Amino acid sequence: MNEDFLYFDHTATKQIPKEILEFYIEQLKINNYNPAARYREGIRAAESIRIAQEKIAGLLHCRPSELILTSGATESINTAIKGLVFAPNPKQKRILTSAGEHAATAETLKYLRESFDYQIDICELNPDGSLNLEQYEQFLSRNQYDLISLIAVNNVLGTILPIETAVSIRNRLQAETPIHLDAVQALGKMPFDFRIARVELASFSLHKIGTPKGIGLLYKSEDTRIVPLLHGGGQQNNLRSGTENPALVCTAAFAVTRTLEQLTKNCAFVQELKAYLFRCLDQAAVNYQRISPAEPDKAVPHIIAIAFPELRAETLLNVLSKKGIGVSIGSACSSKKSERNSVLRQLHLPGNLDQYVLRISLAETNTKEEIDQLVKKIAFALAKYAVK
Ligand code: PLP
Repeated sequence: MNEDFLYFDHTATKQIPKEILEFYIEQLKINNYNPAARYREGIRAAESIRIAQEKIAGLLHCRPSELILTSGATESINTAIKGLVFAPNPKQKRILTSAGEHAATAETLKYLRESFDYQIDICELNPDGSLNLEQYEQFLSRNQYDLISLIAVNNVLGTILPIETAVSIRNRLQAETPIHLDAVQALGKMPFDFRIARVELASFSLHKIGTPKGIGLLYKSEDTRIVPLLHGGGQQNNLRSGTENPALVCTAAFAVTRTLEQLTKNCAFVQELKAYLFRCLDQAAVNYQRISPAEPDKAVPHIIAIAFPELRAETLLNVLSKKGIGVSIGSACSSKKSERNSVLRQLHLPGNLDQYVLRISLAETNTKEEIDQLVKKIAFALAKYAVK
């Protein structure tokens, strides 16, 4: 990573920690055979994948056979949703989701609606960005669904879904309907355990916890039926064909282990950094408005949506970028789409305040000195360009 660059966009991708990078490079040197090959090196590569999957499953408290290796969460989510819908499961042609979903889910569901006539029911968010559980319950008591797909931690706001509550409402009203969880921003930012999150499908992207990009996981409980999206050599129990990268899979196991070992310590540190950020903004008399919920049990501390009502987020982002600081804006759905962000729209912010929302995302690698720099540069930008 560029040493002069102050990085506050870890939600988009985490920079690869030195020990993970070194581990991966070493693995690439010694563990780069085709795991389907029948000679000793290939058999060893396959064995290393088996051990890595076993390790990750142990840490997440599921069975190794319930984890499918993918290229990332977008693939996991597409496989979970389309795989379930295209499998010979009962068909209500109706899916329940929330207005807080990442494009990987929202666009997949839109495709099913437009191309396969699926009815997609969308639960609203509360003004703090959490799922409207009353409406969720109403939907489930009125209609029968093929699938429920929910985001565990919102990537714009950091809001946490009360997974156990969502699952118990489902259990009470239609126990047979599977739940898919987009758990991308949960892993490494809060405790996550399949013994507690009793869902049938869950998606993860491991670059969000510091592996190189190109690896994700799909959890599929043993009795959930899906069909593969990718057909070919029959890897991953015929559910995801394509040659696995044994070095990357072993690195993923290393990263998940490291992340979960350090979880409590790192979350406490990030919580402290977040509190420090707000103290510094107050001391600098910066005009801001909290958008992410302030209560620690409602949002992970790593994702902070914050509005600076005197300066459009896009302008602020550009000024900060010129000063060597990386943040992101909350108002775009993705870097290439300029329409208003559907998650922020749900919050009914006054006027066009959603255009002023910046996403600052923290990691344990950030320091208080970096926060000092960030606040200084924000104060500078506001002093210079603010429209009062
Ligand atoms: N879901 C959430 C909540 C995300 O934050 C992201 C990425 O930002 C994704 C899904 C998609 O992950 P990827 O782009 O790694 O496939």
